[in-house]
Amino acid sequence: MKIFSFGFALCLFPFGLSGQWERCGYTHLLKQLKEKGQHMAIEQIQEEAYSFAKQNGPQKSAPLYQIPVVVHIVHMSPEENLPDSLIHQQIQVLNADFRRLNADTNLTRSEFLPVAADAGIEFFLATQDPQGNPTNGITRTAGQPSGLFPIFDPFSDNVKKTALGGKDPWPTSRYLNVWVCNLLSGFGVLGYAYPPAGTPPNWPADSAPADSTVQGVVIHYPVFGPNNPNATGPLTAVNRGRTLTHEVGHFLGLRHIWGDGGCAEDDGLNDTPPSDSDAGQLCDFSKNTCPPVSGPDLPDQIENYMDYAADSCMNMFSQEQVAAMHYILENYRKPLYESGLQMGLPNQTAVKISLSPNPSAGRFTLHRSGWASGPISTFLTDALGRRVTELKYINASSNFVWDIPTLSNGLHWCYISNGNHHLALPILIQR
Ligand SMILES: [Zn+2]
Repeated sequence: MKIFSFGFALCLFPFGLSGQWERCGYTHLLKQLKEKGQHMAIEQIQEEAYSFAKQNGPQKSAPLYQIPVVVHIVHMSPEENLPDSLIHQQIQVLNADFRRLNADTNLTRSEFLPVAADAGIEFFLATQDPQGNPTNGITRTAGQPSGLFPIFDPFSDNVKKTALGGKDPWPTSRYLNVWVCNLLSGFGVLGYAYPPAGTPPNWPADSAPADSTVQGVVIHYPVFGPNNPNATGPLTAVNRGRTLTHEVGHFLGLRHIWGDGGCAEDDGLNDTPPSDSDAGQLCDFSKNTCPPVSGPDLPDQIENYMDYAADSCMNMFSQEQVAAMHYILENYRKPLYESGLQMGLPNQTAVKISLSPNPSAGRFTLHRSGWASGPISTFLTDALGRRVTELKYINASSNFVWDIPTLSNGLHWCYISNGNHHLALPILIQR
């Protein structure tokens, strides 16, 4: 520590002293933007999304959002150069958490079951690079952070810049960029993400971060992926890959459920009870810090991904959080899922999946094998892509029968996903 100048050491304090760490740099990032006067548009967008979410709740007709991801591994030592297998497992965790297909949904307490929600958002490693060439959605760069202190830090965002020894993003409007690097070196933050920004009309031009190339998520390498062998000591509390779930929540506009303040500060949503503090990497189910705004006095919702409980106790998003994320996707991050629609569908011959009879009067069988022989989810849309059924989760490897006599005549699409692969097959309804 003594090699640092006093001024630089001051910068370190917000993120904890050496040996300590904080789950996420979001609060401090916003504080930093506030000091630069670049927070107003972010807050405006969040307010818009939250008031929509509170008024409308989750939209039954929402599509399944499928978002292409590029993971940039920026390594300075062999253990930081994480293998493809761990990256694939991390994407599976992310999908399970966002689709409420995680194995520990049974740990959600009964008082929160009515509001625990499938976010209807999936992620897949990009299959096309920005030039349209095939890719595995992973880049690898030998990081060489420049400057007096050769470290990656949230202040300069240097991991996101090739010129500063990191890796330039792929177009941030069309890909969720995730940088994985050694972030800890003195900063003690495990991840950070920028919430959506875009200057609404009549707002000062500099009221949001001007640099769209910083949009995305940064994760400290030992907590990327489940059971990462580098997650030792206190990091074993956060070794199930849920730091990324939390940060992607921020990327899609969510705030911490305790509102980063006392009982008077709120996250802006009704179905996450007020709380005055984070869960501190613990699993304290007796934690109940604030009186209710109205209704029954519910405990702090420590199982929410947007708190800081240990990974083993996080297992849900709430309905209003889902509605807010959908609002953000529709209004501020739309090219993300539009580009997802243009790529990522697997080779159908490898999937061996079919619908019959086709045309059908509303009763037809989904025959499956290949990747679809494991757990899958499926739903139907009309020809315009509007969802017309609830999501169905199918765990057995058997075929599945759709039987919906009320489906209207005409072309429909049957969407099928196992979390990593996605497929849409046409089905014609004719009576
Ligand atoms: Zn956070």
